[in-house]
Amino acid sequence: MKLQRREWLKSAGLGALGAAGMAGSASGAEKPSCPVAGEDLLLQDFRPKSALHVPETRVETPRFPVIDVHTHLTFVKRSEKGVAMGEEMVPLTTPQKALEVMDRKGIRAMLNLTGGIGKGLEETVAAWDRTHPGRFYTCVEPRYEDLREPNYPQMQADAIEAAARAGAKGLKIVKTLGLYLREQITEGPLVKVDDPRFDPMWEACAAQDLPVAIHVADPEAFFLPIDCTNERWDELGHHPDWSFYGRDFPSFQEIMEARDRLYARHPKTQFLSLHLGHDAENLAFVGESMDRFPNMTVELGARIGELGRQPRASAKFFEKYQDRILFGTDAVPPPAGDSTPQQVFKDELYEIYYRFLETEDEYFDYAPAPIPPQGRWRIYGVGLSEQVLKKVYHDNAVRLLGLEA
Ligand SMILES: [Zn+2]
Repeated sequence: MKLQRREWLKSAGLGALGAAGMAGSASGAEKPSCPVAGEDLLLQDFRPKSALHVPETRVETPRFPVIDVHTHLTFVKRSEKGVAMGEEMVPLTTPQKALEVMDRKGIRAMLNLTGGIGKGLEETVAAWDRTHPGRFYTCVEPRYEDLREPNYPQMQADAIEAAARAGAKGLKIVKTLGLYLREQITEGPLVKVDDPRFDPMWEACAAQDLPVAIHVADPEAFFLPIDCTNERWDELGHHPDWSFYGRDFPSFQEIMEARDRLYARHPKTQFLSLHLGHDAENLAFVGESMDRFPNMTVELGARIGELGRQPRASAKFFEKYQDRILFGTDAVPPPAGDSTPQQVFKDELYEIYYRFLETEDEYFDYAPAPIPPQGRWRIYGVGLSEQVLKKVYHDNAVRLLGLEA
């Protein structure tokens, strides 16, 4: 089914789109003008071709079977100001189409994080997990629209128990918590990441053995002014609604502190901290967090651009935390995924991840797009050992999700 980016964003709980992108489509596929020496050149038209002569390895299939723990195969249909409403779901592709890519690219299973709630969740589990056992797993989400009910904390904890019975494999938290959800749902002060009304929900996840896939902060540049010093200028131009600078948004620092209090308060709950713990630019900090919180694991989704531009630090990080890093891509099937090339669900995307993890190739694109969509740089492979690769691709996910080996 065809879903427009605007519609997808809304259903993704990512808020309404602001002005259209300032530099054409996110994939940069349109023909650039190509001024010659002496003429002015716009940034959006700059397409330098690397003159570097280095080996180029194509990795079509992974060395070991892969479990992709960060995918979006369905979305809740309706949302207001970034808060999901109702139970109706929209699939972004079909199981058959997803399986074709998975079989070609050596993907044993995918975890669909945005599986919805209530009846929507049950339908998602029926259509995907139960129809194709062992290939798809689904996460439940919180029912934020009921936040004002006096017994909400218990209701939400009970909903987790019901979701576990319905077949959910985890709980997904998107940026709704901390950056969109407000006291009167869509109005009033923002609700904090460590708001105590959710304490019974985190405890229910621990009791039901459901890991929490949590995404409450974004790259540091998303919290800074969009000006000539912002290294994600292009990306924020295409997605102005991803900027959390100004207004009444908390700072990056405040969100991370709230997250830390949450992790500390619920030591029995497993937190799969998406996008490299939300701070792939600062692996030292991510490492310190993992040392502090044994209940914290991370995954790679949409962050090989960050990891690959610091390959030596990344290789050390993989070595040290090899039992707590999971493979994930943040895959969104096309056409919805086309506007975010770093996470579009297709063969080329997986080949780039495999190349990054398995080879020591130098200076290659981190996304299948003519302009690097997250920032204008290229990446270097980390060439992981077989032992580390197997854990990251597969074994760590098996353990966290309680799958059969
Ligand atoms: Zn995601």
